[in-house]
Parts: sequence; C-alpha cells; structure tokens
Amino acid sequence: MTSNVYWGSPRQARLDAAETLPAKLDLILDALHLRDRVKDELVAIKMHVGNNLSYSVIHPVFVRKVVQAIKDGGGKPFVVDVDWDASGAEKRGYASETIGCPVYPVGGLKDNYYVSYFHEYKNMKEWKLGGMIQDASFLVNFAHVKGHPSCSFGAAFKNLALGCMVGGTRGLMHDTHHVDPYWFPELCPDAETRQRIIDSCPHGAIVEDRHAPGNLHLHYEPCNQCGRCLKVAPEGSWKINPANFWTFQEAMAISTSIVLGTFDPGKAVHLNLATHMTPVCDCFGFTSMPILPDAGIFGSDDIVALDQATLDVIAQSRLITENVPTSMEVIPNDGHPFTWMHGPMKDPYKVVEYGEALGLGSRQYELVDVLPVEEKKFAPMAYIHARS
Ligand code: SF4
Repeated sequence: MTSNVYWGSPRQARLDAAETLPAKLDLILDALHLRDRVKDELVAIKMHVGNNLSYSVIHPVFVRKVVQAIKDGGGKPFVVDVDWDASGAEKRGYASETIGCPVYPVGGLKDNYYVSYFHEYKNMKEWKLGGMIQDASFLVNFAHVKGHPSCSFGAAFKNLALGCMVGGTRGLMHDTHHVDPYWFPELCPDAETRQRIIDSCPHGAIVEDRHAPGNLHLHYEPCNQCGRCLKVAPEGSWKINPANFWTFQEAMAISTSIVLGTFDPGKAVHLNLATHMTPVCDCFGFTSMPILPDAGIFGSDDIVALDQATLDVIAQSRLITENVPTSMEVIPNDGHPFTWMHGPMKDPYKVVEYGEALGLGSRQYELVDVLPVEEKKFAPMAYIHARS
C-alpha cells in the first residue's frame, strides 16, 4: 500500500504570503479534507506547547489555522498536552485569544484522569492514556519535528506516544532501555576498574547505580556510542547494544497504537512541522539553534508514511554543525543526519519500522508537493553592477 503524504516545501519563488508555510498548511488541510470530516466531532489537537523558554514549538499562527478549519467544518476543537507543559502554555502564546480554543492537560489538572490499557512489553504492562484523548472523537496530531536524546528524532509518533500518556507511563517508557542486561558485574568485580569505566565517558553517561551500589548504570540519553568505555571495561562486562536503544522506539510504536486504537477508522490526521529543528525535544524548556535547514510542513492520514517521508526529506540536507552545542560530538556516519549528533544506534527509522509492523501504516508513500516552487529564469546575461 502506498500512502499520500502532502508536503509544503520550505522554498518559495515569490515574496508572497500565498507561498509561505502557513498558507501551505491550508492547502494540506484541504488535501486531507479536514473540514469535511469533523462535523459534530470533539477534536483533540495534540501538540507540544513547549516548556519554560521554548520558542521553536509550533507558532500560534499555524495552530489557529487548524482550529479555524475544524470550526469551519462544524467540529469542536481543543488543544492538549502533558500537564507540566499545558499549565504554562499562555506564557508561550497559546491561549484561547490567540489560537481560538482552550488548552487542556491531557490527564487533567492532577495528571490522574486516565484510562488504563494493558499490553506487556519489557517493564510495562499498564499504559495510562490521558482521559482528554479518550474523550475526543477525532484527533489532529500536530507535531514539531526535532532531535531527541533517546532515539535521535521526535515527530508524529513521539507526539502521540509520550504526549498522550500520563507521567508514570512516560517514565516507564524511558526505562525500557534498561530491561535487557548490559552490565555483568561478575566480570568486573573491583571498584577501581568500575571507576575507570565511569571516568572513560566524556558525556557523563555512566554512573554508579544509586539503587544498587557497586553496579553501573547507563544514562542512554547522552550516550553517543563512541565506544570509549568498551576499551576500558573488562571483556563482556559492559555492553553497548543496539537493542537497548531500540526499545524506546518500540515502546513508542506500541503507545501510538493504543492512542490511535481509541479512534474510529478515518478519525485521525497527522501533521509534522519541520522548522527550527533543535538537537533535543521541546520538553527541555529552551530552544537552541536550528541544527538542520527547515524541511517544510507535512500532512497525511498515515502516521508511518508521514514520519518516514519527513525523515527522508530531512536526510537530503546537511547538519548545521556550527549550531550544534559544543558539548555534543558531531560524528559523521552513513546514517541520518540526526545520528551524527546522537550516535548510529539511535536509528530514527526504527519507530516507523515498528509502527508498520503493528499495522499503523505503510512506509511506502508518494510525496505530493502542494505548491511546487516555480523555478525563476533570470535574463541570460551576466549580472552587472549598476553603478552611477
Ligand atoms: S559509548 Fe556511550 S557510555 Fe560509552 S563512553 Fe561513549 S558515550 Fe559514554
């Protein structure tokens, strides 16, 4: 199966509002027939409204366009995000007056309004879906694309998988990294060697396990798989395994399948805004410099095709290495530019592989440019400075 992914390119031919990304968002919403699909629907717009000093999250101009389209179609929209982001949303420009609808915490004011779903995976059994998502009859999944320390990339899958669950479930999803063993203490019994392993990591990713003194614990987020620790650790005592990195993405795919499973077929659309992409996710509470050229705006009914297409378009551009924080190493490799910062084992495509395996969509897509850029032809002669 091939799915359509509608794309608004970041390029424009003319300095004209009709060729800008908010205008292309309108064209994408038309292509998705959003207005025709939301009559009498209670529509949850899931987005990340940032935290603290974030300013690279989706600008209210874009959100208002989605809200207006839903209202035009006779739907009732509201924005949802996790409680600690939603509670300060107005400080970053998200209020009824600006976007045209209210912003609610996905799990209620105390993050305790949820519905439990059960699916066994690693350390997880119960998945607590925010009640505001359960209450909605239609979903607009509007994601800002950025890097992510656990899996190198966050977009449509991550927006639903983490942002629709209440806090405890989000924490357990991050802990899936640690279920498959990577530390074998019987092969490294002496404290001096353990300390050398800890000291070998330039990113502070290895620490003594606070719950089990004498054991080592890996913070997967700052680890870029440089392998320095493996040169110090006794053979077999310490492992940097791709499988440990991929569990987070498989958990995201499972979580997304639970979220989407609460909506009837055809009652969800997905949008990715790939502008001002930063090294880490918007939860960090700040915006750093963009580390990739803007890649535009994407929309589809198929979440797998959407994230696949977004990654593929971004892969054609280069990392803006001068904008990467100096505490992060840039290691060029054959993989996606996001892995140049986060390491090759944080393969951003794993989430769409897992999502496709769960039947959430197809990695095969057709990219439909909603407003192809007209290539301007200039006069066929050399540029001459006009001098007086
Ligand atoms: S592989 Fe990861 S944990 Fe080991 S030294 Fe490199 S960054 Fe640190």
